[in-house]
Amino acid sequence: MKSTTRVVVIGGGIAGCSTLYHLTQEGWSDVVLLERNELTSGTTWHSAAQVTNFGMNQTMVGLKTHSINLYKELRDDPEYPVGYNHGDGGIRLANTEAQMEGYRHFASMARGMDVEFEVIDAEECARRHPLISTDNLLGGLWDGSDGHIDPAQLCGALSYRARKAGAEVYRNTAVTALTQHKDHTWTVHTDQGDIDCEIVVNACGYRVNEVGAMMGVQHPVTSMEHQYFITDDIPEVVNAGKRIPLLRCPISDYYSRQEKGGLLVGFYEQDCKTWGMDGVDPNFVNALCPDDLDRVMDVLEGAFARMPALAEAGIKTIVNGPITYTIDGAPLVGPIPGKRNAFCIIGLRAGLGEGGGHGWLLAQQIVHGEAQYDTWCIDPRRFAGHTNVELTALKAIEDYQNEFRFHFPNEHRPVGRNAKTTPLTPVLAAENAEFTVVNGWERVEYFKPNPDFHVTYGFGFDESFDIVGKEIEGVQNGVGLTEVNGFNRFEITGSGAQDFLDRMICGRLTRKDGRVGLAYLLNEHGMLKGEATIANIPASERGPARIWYGSAAASELHDMDWLQKHLRDDEDVQIRSLTNDQTILVIAGPKARAVMQSVSRADWSKEAFPWLSVRECFIGYAPATVMSVSFSGEMAYEIHVPNASLYAAYLALREAGKEHGMTLFGALAVESMRLEKGYLHWKADILTEFDPFETGLDRFVKMDKPDFVGKAALEKRHAAGPKVHLVTLKLDSTDGHAHGGASLMDAGKVVGTVSSGGWAYRTGLNLAYAFVKPGYESIGTNVEIDVSGKMVAAEVIERDIYDPNYELVRG
Ligand SMILES: Cc1cc2nc3c(=O)[nH]c(=O)nc-3n(C[C@H](O)[C@H](O)[C@H](O)COP(=O)(O)OP(=O)(O)OC[C@H]3O[C@@H](n4cnc5c(N)ncnc54)[C@H](O)[C@@H]3O)c2cc1C
Repeated sequence: MKSTTRVVVIGGGIAGCSTLYHLTQEGWSDVVLLERNELTSGTTWHSAAQVTNFGMNQTMVGLKTHSINLYKELRDDPEYPVGYNHGDGGIRLANTEAQMEGYRHFASMARGMDVEFEVIDAEECARRHPLISTDNLLGGLWDGSDGHIDPAQLCGALSYRARKAGAEVYRNTAVTALTQHKDHTWTVHTDQGDIDCEIVVNACGYRVNEVGAMMGVQHPVTSMEHQYFITDDIPEVVNAGKRIPLLRCPISDYYSRQEKGGLLVGFYEQDCKTWGMDGVDPNFVNALCPDDLDRVMDVLEGAFARMPALAEAGIKTIVNGPITYTIDGAPLVGPIPGKRNAFCIIGLRAGLGEGGGHGWLLAQQIVHGEAQYDTWCIDPRRFAGHTNVELTALKAIEDYQNEFRFHFPNEHRPVGRNAKTTPLTPVLAAENAEFTVVNGWERVEYFKPNPDFHVTYGFGFDESFDIVGKEIEGVQNGVGLTEVNGFNRFEITGSGAQDFLDRMICGRLTRKDGRVGLAYLLNEHGMLKGEATIANIPASERGPARIWYGSAAASELHDMDWLQKHLRDDEDVQIRSLTNDQTILVIAGPKARAVMQSVSRADWSKEAFPWLSVRECFIGYAPATVMSVSFSGEMAYEIHVPNASLYAAYLALREAGKEHGMTLFGALAVESMRLEKGYLHWKADILTEFDPFETGLDRFVKMDKPDFVGKAALEKRHAAGPKVHLVTLKLDSTDGHAHGGASLMDAGKVVGTVSSGGWAYRTGLNLAYAFVKPGYESIGTNVEIDVSGKMVAAEVIERDIYDPNYELVRG
């Protein structure tokens, strides 16, 4: 065994084999895979191994397309051919109009990734799948590329190719401990000796937390028992004259595919079971859990009803094995939070279908620092600090029970709530707040007219439409109050703080005491990495002058990683997170200044505290740090309050607000107003796939600065000209808004992709932001947007349509 290498990948299932192969493809051949037993002896060997192109967003669709193309290439490679039934086709069934509408949206989204899904009616489903009845069926989504692959051959072929490219694979070599050194390199201890390396990758399937513990990390991954059976030959299958398509059923929670002359049918039962929560038997190798078909009787009946021929079939084999789930159902592929030179590819619950793509995107991250698609939806840093074993298990169970039921945009699932709250959560709940969850935080969406109010889940406008409109009216005509909790906030201090930040952002750094500026961070490729509000808080009796760096609610671990990684050893800079200590109250509207004046002794006049200022003060007797910044386009104050004083500040503001008719508003109102004002959302409109010029952020870039992270690459990109443009569109429709991912069409061709959409109440417009191809960015350009299957006319308009001269925010 080698004693040094560049990367050690731990685990020889599909996750590890794919990562190893793709590292060699990205140019690193001095890489090693360690497997404690034989390759595929964890979950991979017994997988049903279905390979679909379906995904809920473009990154997932893109990585699955990569899997499919790679698997086809492997199938056709005479040197090491892999059994891959590609193109049997598959149907995701639907029995509600809302599911059909969702499928139409996903079809629109996938088209932007060159993937064609068809939404078909019940008769067409039955025509394509000869075994199904159309009872209680509306239709489904057809994925023509659906199929399945031989898992052992797949992993064998990937490791064969990796070894040919210089990688080494050591089987029967168990990792027993990990030591990280001061220079962030690692020693990997195994039962066969030690290996020193720069980077480690955890690809350990259901043993993820055994290896996690070796580096002091508890990953939010739980295993669930999952069963399928394989039938004897079924005459209808044998005599079909073609291969039977796959089925996935959100009505009765099962899937099926052809296996020889019979069917393989798998179940997501409601009465499901976690596995290995108290540790995994070291001898559980190439092993299965005991059969337990009683547990799946409820879903089995649904499968019998849909495929009557199944009820007559004998069962040949039952497989019950552990499958990993994360806290939100999507895998964790990327840097391990809080660790340097450590990555993971874990929590794969559809690892055969997705594994080719995940290994590809992970290898790109390791070798190039970033993947070609924005990988936030699979980034391990998307959960900050609330994911213990219990919460992970509860969410895993919920996700398993809903395996084929996609999240509607206005749906907030009930399990694991109140993980992160503030003293105001029960107070706002008593005001009938409807909450959504952002990185564990309960965030107010809107205020319900009564506690029993519910919206209908779907993609169109729902029953909250007028409520949100009224909340915006309250802000626009008077003053509104909302709580914005969980926003990321770092305090940055030290003599080198300003120079450090200047290097990190691509624009002019606001250095003046008492002033606030908006800034953008790029990666080394010149692409957008982050957005931050930088506030220079003057020295006061509360402490010396310091900088507050504020960014999106879920970005805490991501941004901390990024900033820490760029700190130089000789720099006097300290970064401390205040995210969990402070919460923001926002008051917005033309009467906001009057409220501030009556609740705080300071002088809040325009002259004394103009737009983009920051100061410390008291709200009543609650200490606060106030910024005159606005995300709504109205005059507004962000009031940052320590959680201990939050309730006091809230009561003082409500009391002072009485004479000004203060109302409450929530995040849906903010979302509408920010769209109208031309502001962007991190990870909706601000993505690592685009640079700041393509995203329309030219005024935040200062190319004549001596240097900043990403400058050299941005110069090259800028010289070559933008590949896309972010534009604002108004849609000719009042039925519903476009959702992120929807395709823009011109003469039957995709010319862009929606990043955000919503109704703009103050201007009465149905708005969308979209990244469009060059030639489609001019004001007045007409296109169509495929909004959940309806072609809606849309026109490019100015970005900043509400108060373009910023008179309102200045007050
Ligand atoms: C019944 C069932 C049906 C499924 N059907 C499908 C399907 O149709 N389509 C689909 O895409 N997915 C399916 N899946 C899921 C899929 O099989 C998994 O997502 C995938 O196999 C996970 O691969 P992995 O590499 O992450 O984990 P594993 O295959 O478990 O590999 C992890 C490897 O790490 C090794 N390891 C662990 N600890 C150490 C250590 N300390 N040192 C060295 N090596 C170590 C293990 O020995 C193991 O080989 C199914 C799963 C089940 C259970």
